[in-house]
Amino acid sequence: MCPKCGSHRTEVVGRSNDLKTITVRCNACGERSQMPVEKEGAQEGQAVG
Ligand SMILES: [Zn+2]
Repeated sequence: MCPKCGSHRTEVVGRSNDLKTITVRCNACGERSQMPVEKEGAQEGQAVG
């Protein structure tokens, strides 16, 4: 999700060398941001609307 406008229309445009961080670009406002890669199989049970 875009931290700037809150849009879910984000697209992965890059990835760090250690593969722990991805760069995503918002299709709504064009904001680029980096965020940690989600762990596979993580079941935190967090339902964020
Ligand atoms: Zn945005």
